[in-house]
Amino acid sequence: MAGLSRRRFLQGIAGLGAGVLSGCGGVPLRSGGKAHVVVVGGGFGGATAAKYLRLLDANIQVTLIEPKAKYITCPGSNWLFAGLANLDQLTVDYQDLQDRYGVKLLVDRISSLDAAQRQLRLAGGQSVTYDRLIMSPGIDFRWDAMAGYDQAAAEQFPHAWQAGPQTLLLARQLQAMPDGGVVLIAVPADPYRCPPGPYERASMMAYWLKQHKPRSKILILDAKRSFSKQALFEAGWTKHYGYGTTNSLIEWLSLADNPLLQLDKQNRVLTSEFGDRFRGDVLNIIPPQTAAQIALQHGLADATGWCPVRPLTGQSLFDEFIHVIGDAAHYAPIPKSAFAANSEAKACALAVTSLINQTAIAEAHWLNTCYSLIAPDHGISVAGVYKLDAANAIAPVKGAGGVSARTDAQVAATEADYTRAVYRSLIADTFG
Ligand SMILES: Cc1cc2nc3c(=O)[nH]c(=O)nc-3n(C[C@H](O)[C@H](O)[C@H](O)COP(=O)(O)OP(=O)(O)OC[C@H]3O[C@@H](n4cnc5c(N)ncnc54)[C@H](O)[C@@H]3O)c2cc1C
Repeated sequence: MAGLSRRRFLQGIAGLGAGVLSGCGGVPLRSGGKAHVVVVGGGFGGATAAKYLRLLDANIQVTLIEPKAKYITCPGSNWLFAGLANLDQLTVDYQDLQDRYGVKLLVDRISSLDAAQRQLRLAGGQSVTYDRLIMSPGIDFRWDAMAGYDQAAAEQFPHAWQAGPQTLLLARQLQAMPDGGVVLIAVPADPYRCPPGPYERASMMAYWLKQHKPRSKILILDAKRSFSKQALFEAGWTKHYGYGTTNSLIEWLSLADNPLLQLDKQNRVLTSEFGDRFRGDVLNIIPPQTAAQIALQHGLADATGWCPVRPLTGQSLFDEFIHVIGDAAHYAPIPKSAFAANSEAKACALAVTSLINQTAIAEAHWLNTCYSLIAPDHGISVAGVYKLDAANAIAPVKGAGGVSARTDAQVAATEADYTRAVYRSLIADTFG
């Protein structure tokens, strides 16, 4: 399927004029009168794409397919560990998308995709045809990366990298841990969902431990040499959690040359390539990731495990009628975040309406902003603006974006307020 689609796609783009792409490429609409765009995945990428397609062109029929009637957001899920949020507060539904924007919702899972017929088969048995398909199915985990850590083991040692029951399980394990216990957080190499997420998690756990079990320790075992917003996190950890002292609640260790290879479930020990052994009372193992199964299964990913796309339109390099956005897609150097997925979705929705209406595709800019809490009154952020360079690759806009200044308590508190406000506005923009 992938080979055939690639040929068809390359033939398709060979004949295009500069800056203007043809609509459905002369292919008749599958659905007769109105163009039908199907969006797979109701997370930050898919929900935004569905809403903005309807806002941009009310003549386009939009169907969103998502197996969960309610979606729990990963952003904010680390706040659970500090007792600052609960899962109900992080749960959204698709009512507004249906009632206010006229998106048709199918609560179901895509089980297969016939790209030649532009047809999807749902687990419930229904078939759906599309003129264009936008896929935002998120991530899956590489269960072969660490001996002993598979899907079954994750029920005992939660990754909590998809918010929901795993998050609750990890929070309960933290609460049940004896004072003086050790939490191990194993962090994968790039790229993975939410680069600053593990360090915000360590901060939120440390905040809770400081009040309830102050003799405890969090050891971050990192497959990288450095991490997102490192200087800001370390300054915050020094201020709040004794970082760098023998009594520090948080310790960070790079295992870039000495990767973790094995989990001994019975003894709760992680062993590295050089034979170093790390024992924890609570083990939070975040495995390396790939695009979600549905994308892998249908040949939309390459050898990296992520889906290559033409950035301007989000079109898969393997099928011109399928667009991939969000964490599943390769939009590097834009990081895999909810804010970025929302931004990619808007650019993609704009391109899809242009393709359908056979109008010129506007130049796109993509945005990413990522706020993290170090303590309830201490927030930090990173922001980036991106556009296409002369070679049509995504590149950061020089002079735009940046990280928080190293600041006084008042500014850190304002950034903490912004962290919560940005979360609320992202939810409203995506689902409301
Ligand atoms: C702990 C943590 C904290 C985070 N904090 C932040 C933050 O503060 N700010 C930020 O910007 N980002 C944050 N993120 C990252 C953010 O959650 C993701 O980048 C974002 O959810 C990606 O959106 P998406 O649409 O690509 O995927 P998702 O949100 O995962 O949505 C994918 C959807 O596709 C559906 N799906 C999968 N397969 C199928 C199928 N076969 N058929 C139909 N539907 C399917 C799934 O059910 C899912 O609902 C955080 C992530 C984590 C883990």
